[in-house]
Amino acid sequence: MPKAYCPECDAIVGVQDPKVGHLFTCPECGVELEVISTDPFDVYFPYNEDWDEGEDQEAGRDDDGR
Ligand SMILES: [Zn+2]
Repeated sequence: MPKAYCPECDAIVGVQDPKVGHLFTCPECGVELEVISTDPFDVYFPYNEDWDEGEDQEAGRDDDGR
């Protein structure tokens, strides 16, 4: 099972048969995480509309969160 470090608490988290966009919860801290890459396997916080990082979202809203 691929493993990565939780960006919140640095616990090792693993996902069976991961797919990019897969959402899961860190078993250590309970934060919601998303698989952002499978090769290499990496996870990060899922995209959150509350985060405003100044990107122009008018045209390219990428909403493939399935
Ligand atoms: Zn965690």
